[in-house]
Amino acid sequence: MGLIVQKFGGSSVADAESIKRVAKRIVETRKAGNEVVVAVSAMGDTTDELLDLAHQVTLLPAPRELDMLLTAGERISMALLAMAIRSMGHDARSFTGSQAGMITDASHGAARIVDVTPGRVREALDDGAIAIVAGFQGFNRATGNITTLGRGGSDTTAVALAAALHAELCEIYTDVDGIYTADPRVVPRARPIPRITSEEMLELAAGGAKVLYIRAVEYARRHGVTLHVRSSFNNRTGTIVYNPPAPGLDENGAPVEEAVIAGVATDLGEAKITVVGVRDEPGKAAELFTVVARAGANIDMIVQNVSAAATGLTDISFTLPKGDAQAVLAAITAEQQRLGYLSLQHDDQIAKLALVGAGMRTNAGVSAQLFTALSEAGINIEMISTSEIRISVVTRADSIDAAVRAVHTAFGLDGEDEAVVYAGTGR
Ligand code: ASP
Ligand code: MG
Repeated sequence: MGLIVQKFGGSSVADAESIKRVAKRIVETRKAGNEVVVAVSAMGDTTDELLDLAHQVTLLPAPRELDMLLTAGERISMALLAMAIRSMGHDARSFTGSQAGMITDASHGAARIVDVTPGRVREALDDGAIAIVAGFQGFNRATGNITTLGRGGSDTTAVALAAALHAELCEIYTDVDGIYTADPRVVPRARPIPRITSEEMLELAAGGAKVLYIRAVEYARRHGVTLHVRSSFNNRTGTIVYNPPAPGLDENGAPVEEAVIAGVATDLGEAKITVVGVRDEPGKAAELFTVVARAGANIDMIVQNVSAAATGLTDISFTLPKGDAQAVLAAITAEQQRLGYLSLQHDDQIAKLALVGAGMRTNAGVSAQLFTALSEAGINIEMISTSEIRISVVTRADSIDAAVRAVHTAFGLDGEDEAVVYAGTGR
């Protein structure tokens, strides 16, 4: 008998009918002889609706109270799901995040899991019950407060439970058929990827792929949890996200031929800030990015130009989440005297394309092929950054769709048939 963790996203439990359908799926897994732990998201758009409500009451909801409010969403779905399973003649018990032992740090809104003590979940399993755990929430021991893990955090709940309970597998049920080589809404010939390494998945998620939440992939990678991403609406095989012992090996250590390219992700959520006329001398970048870090922003790409010989001045550009741009602009402006730059530019009409593949490590010429594909499509590249298995470029926002289609074709990723596109978002 194996232990399986199953996570169901909000769109999979959007109404009573869906909850019954999901309950059936869970019961089937139990009947097949497995122990089953379920992490569930709030029904449909509940979290967004609760957020809206909070903002109707006040412009700045207190973070502690906001977490109290938002965690109510998962409490509704977990109880309904447990009831539905019980009505089908199987024992099921629901648990809040704190009852399930999801211990986090004290920060509200994006708390990190520091420990998982799933004693009550284990007990329920030992009694033969199915355990249903509210996703996205935890508890801080020092403050005694309820916390949330950040939007999309139920994925992390599922992975953390799978790690703590030594589950065989963590199944992430969503409203798309798995991980695609590109967003099928933009690239009609995108193909589902049957197997992908967690390293590649991390790069795709960082590049803007939204099917899996990045913190969950990080957690799975660190704890060696195998993920199976699939649709809760059909029986397609989905995507396995695995942790190979070394590059070029499968999870059992057998050699595999790695695809050069796994997929292409795009991200329209970033903005670019350029600091114009910075003195090109030691310490300037350190000063600038200390100011940026203090404003709480996560920087993605950074580019510094060569300085003009006549002036000794250079420009530094970087990208960051759009939502952080105003705070960072204000922080840099406040320090203009000390940083000694000439002017600031803000551009939120950019997009990022990330080409990802473990086979890049051993294949030369991938960048040349990428840049050729983009230039043939008439697309200008504004910034470039690379890792061992990823090349990212920044383009104008309005040319990103054409860019990703051109790149998908150039790297031979196009499938035979058009992908089935669902109404869902992958969340
Ligand atoms: N309900 C939360 C959200 O919508 C958590 C989740 O869905 O994973 O962000
Ligand atoms: Mg949700």
